[in-house]
Amino acid sequence: MGKEGPGLNSIRLLFRSKVALALAFCTAISALFLGLYLHHTAYRVVLGDTFVGYVDEPQIVDEAIRREALSRHWKPEELVLLERPTLVKTHSLSSLPSMTPDQLAAAMGPRLIFRVNAAQIWVDGQKRVTVPSPEEAEALLDELKEAYIRWVGADKENIQVVSVEPIEKVEIRTALVDPSQVLRSQEEALALLQQAPLVQQVYQIQKGDTLWAIARQNNLSEEEIMAANPGVRPNLLQVGQEINLTVPDPVITFRSKEVRVREESIPYKVKTVQDNSLYPWQRVTRQAGKNGVRQVTTEVVRENGRIISVETVEEKVLEEPREAIVAVGSKAVDISASGKFIWPTNGGKVTSSFGPRWGSFHSGIDIGVQAGTPVYAADSGYVRAAGSSGAYGLRIIIDHGSGYSTLYAHLSKITVNVGQKVTRGDLIGHTGRTGHTTGPHLHFEIRIDEVPVDPLRFYR
Ligand SMILES: [Zn+2]
Repeated sequence: MGKEGPGLNSIRLLFRSKVALALAFCTAISALFLGLYLHHTAYRVVLGDTFVGYVDEPQIVDEAIRREALSRHWKPEELVLLERPTLVKTHSLSSLPSMTPDQLAAAMGPRLIFRVNAAQIWVDGQKRVTVPSPEEAEALLDELKEAYIRWVGADKENIQVVSVEPIEKVEIRTALVDPSQVLRSQEEALALLQQAPLVQQVYQIQKGDTLWAIARQNNLSEEEIMAANPGVRPNLLQVGQEINLTVPDPVITFRSKEVRVREESIPYKVKTVQDNSLYPWQRVTRQAGKNGVRQVTTEVVRENGRIISVETVEEKVLEEPREAIVAVGSKAVDISASGKFIWPTNGGKVTSSFGPRWGSFHSGIDIGVQAGTPVYAADSGYVRAAGSSGAYGLRIIIDHGSGYSTLYAHLSKITVNVGQKVTRGDLIGHTGRTGHTTGPHLHFEIRIDEVPVDPLRFYR
């Protein structure tokens, strides 16, 4: 065997070393793979003290937060996260399943606490409503004011609202708040500020008050007042009486000032002039009267729609009234009055005398005669009036001069005309039951300077 050459040995050695080399190579590759495997990186996600899960990329956490914000209906960039999850880098020999963003969002869910920059409206030191931004808070207050102006001046052309200011101290403050507190619908926020819980007030009846006026002053209906006051009778309100008013008490009370311009008519005056070309019973209109026009400007202050004061600030005459001129006759009339009166009808008893009667005053005497009995002029004179006049029914007034006149009422028929001269004893009409009367009779009056006196004192 010694005969084998060294060359063969060398070849064997060479062969062995090649195997070793390959083995070494393989080992190295394996080690490399193992090393790579050992260096596989994952992250433990921890929120507060709670382990949430593993992710293999930090971006998955950001994406999970983003998706959670979206699921709460906010834009991710609008929200501030109070506490971020922490990531702890970790290695593991076994492959760890990484969570997807949705899985992680579900796992963190309610433990993610967001805050948002928002604007709060404070009224007299009380937080009333939270909206997304100061601009929206301003817009909300403007809309509230506009709604009030529309309400106060609704469909009234002649009303100009000049100022509207809240009585309360209204502030807008910005704050980092829980997103669930933010009202993002302007309608909802407006409704919250406009809601007006009812409060009880006691009102004392003033002179001249009516239920309607009180209701109007307080923006209530008569029905609402009646409902708050069972047992109170609206037509029997007495001065000093107290009634309940249930009035709305809104979050913000506006004080408004409005200017109202309205036109009023100025009634014309009647001027009488004596005219001796006319008989005393004649009246002639020389100039027709015409009402003038006045423009009245008032300033009305209201609080929450309720009128606090009304002040007239200007009165301007747009058109002067034109007076009526009426000529009254003063022509002398030849009256041959005797100053003595005859009985104005055929007999009859006095059924009701002159003076107080049934709580009023009987200004003449009632002479009981049948309907159709002749009526005579009690003295000479001229007929000043003849016709229907209210409770008197058909009546005649005869002027006897020297301030004396006689009146005959409830007639069925008149046989003289205004202006006609009559002589004592002339037939002037017939009795009846026109006007207010319980039965046929002649109501007879004698007047001195237009004041009725007891007729019987002239028949003694
Ligand atoms: Zn009478």
